[in-house]
Amino acid sequence: MSYDLEWVDLPEPAASGRARYDACDWLDAPPCPHDPPCLDTYLTLAAPYQFHVTIFSMDRYIAGMHWAGMCFDAEPQPFTARQYSHEEWPAASPAEQQAHCDARLAYHAQRVPGRTGIPVFKLTSNGPWTVTAEEIEEALTAHDAAPAELHAQLASDNEYWPLWVDWLRTCREHGGFRLE
Ligand SMILES: [Zn+2]
Repeated sequence: MSYDLEWVDLPEPAASGRARYDACDWLDAPPCPHDPPCLDTYLTLAAPYQFHVTIFSMDRYIAGMHWAGMCFDAEPQPFTARQYSHEEWPAASPAEQQAHCDARLAYHAQRVPGRTGIPVFKLTSNGPWTVTAEEIEEALTAHDAAPAELHAQLASDNEYWPLWVDWLRTCREHGGFRLE
């Protein structure tokens, strides 16, 4: 079990590859009829902008982020917009389909009012979730304000910690990251 993280704002041609896959994969039906398959094209193009984290590694990153005040525990708000079955979806109007897609994007990117940093629930289930650039900015602000001794301790406790901080710094410049 692991998590797949990816920049929100992909450069071309990866962005088009992802958009084409998302459109083709909608509601998982019908299966992709294209050659090469849309998923293969997307994953190949997006690979330079992804970060793969095992559950074990993520638990260690979260422990470090808790220590540095970069994340917090909270419960996600439920998805409350209308849901469509496979049978209902084709009959929905373009406006209804767009409203549903917008509601899903907002749900995945939801923030916790009054809290700063990254909510842990976005890092402990496959969501998918969107960790926003603002959440990352707040987390990095807390990280960078921590004492040098804490930075040294985090790096010595987990040799991969600097990779995680580098990933956050990169994603801050690219709209945040999606996690699945
Ligand atoms: Zn396809």
